[in-house]
Amino acid sequence: MIIRQGFKYRLDTSEAQSARLRVLCGHARFVWNHALARCNEALATEGQFVPRYETMAKWITAWKRNPDTEWLKEAYTDNLQQKLKDLDTAWQRYFKKVADAGRPQFKKKGRCRDSVRFVNFAKYCALQGSRVKLPAGIGWVRFRQSRAILGEIKNCTVGYEAGHWFISFQTEREVDRPLLQATGAVGIDMGIERFATLSDGSYTAPLNSFKRHQEALRKAQQAMSRKTKFSSNWKRAKARVQHIHHRIANVRRDYLHKASTTISKNHAMVCIEDLKVSNMSASAAGTAEQPGRNVRAKSGLNKAILDQGWFEFRRQLDYKLAWNGGWLIAVPARNTSRTCPICDHVSPDNRKTQAQFLCVQCGYAQNADVVGAINVLRRGEALLSNEGPDLARLACEVNGAVRPSAAGTCWPSNRLNA
Ligand SMILES: [Zn+2]
Repeated sequence: MIIRQGFKYRLDTSEAQSARLRVLCGHARFVWNHALARCNEALATEGQFVPRYETMAKWITAWKRNPDTEWLKEAYTDNLQQKLKDLDTAWQRYFKKVADAGRPQFKKKGRCRDSVRFVNFAKYCALQGSRVKLPAGIGWVRFRQSRAILGEIKNCTVGYEAGHWFISFQTEREVDRPLLQATGAVGIDMGIERFATLSDGSYTAPLNSFKRHQEALRKAQQAMSRKTKFSSNWKRAKARVQHIHHRIANVRRDYLHKASTTISKNHAMVCIEDLKVSNMSASAAGTAEQPGRNVRAKSGLNKAILDQGWFEFRRQLDYKLAWNGGWLIAVPARNTSRTCPICDHVSPDNRKTQAQFLCVQCGYAQNADVVGAINVLRRGEALLSNEGPDLARLACEVNGAVRPSAAGTCWPSNRLNA
């Protein structure tokens, strides 16, 4: 099986190199924003479709010929094409309603994560120790190699975060399909009080990296607002704000990696609720017929969900399980917290409080999150036994993403990315 993995390091760029990277990012932003504007126009016009990449790619040539935008001739064309491919992908994800995909947005200078992608590494770039040679007028750059790069580098991305340039190498390597070391299945209930509760009763505490740093962030933002805009003090305060944002992202990523590694190492099959965060955000406000209850509480909940990166967690579980030879199964989430795992009685009354489950029919009492996790596991097992475990497993291994039944999704194996 092929493992694709990313390796990220900080770059030590010279002033000239930084300037050149900024220019390349500016070109990319220009192309993204202008292409997006034309897509939006098409979408607003009745009977028109949003153009696909093949069409958009021709616009680059036209812009280079146009006297107003002929400075694009100086641009790194491969990267411009990559940005249009990204835009095409973003639209497709938006139209297919992929869980966390919103409508593509304009990129504002300094407000987006600027990046340049260098494709076809073997042909256009080179690696020598902890130095990398990049095309488009950048040349050799040293990077802080904190760990070894595994596999063959296919392409790399240079991005600007919190005052520094970083390089991320995307690699591929072929490994033997791992023999499954872990056995047994587990269900996971995702929550706010406990980030992940397992059906065996264990759980991981929440991180709330955002909350923990919120106070520091608030102070830094306040300090920034008191400075004269674009003054050197303001710039320093702004760098501080960006630094805190960057730290929050790092702490959260470490936390998610630790949690997903532990779970994927110890279990062969992991069942998880098929939660759609975007749906939850939409449903909190409710509809005319069914006004949303606890809108405030729910919007707080939604914020916490996004803060804790459930989607990222699921993505990591997916590929880590596949690396270990296991698989991830998503099951429908309906009533998992209201169903008694002993007698199957479904009632909202079963859940006396947020934390406590007490079945009104048979008297079974348990922590509510553990009950949720047990029900998720039972559904995963039912899903597999309905389809036949061999069939489901085979389908997963061949296709990467299959739907064993209309109700659930099962997707481990070769849908690997990092
Ligand atoms: Zn019961």
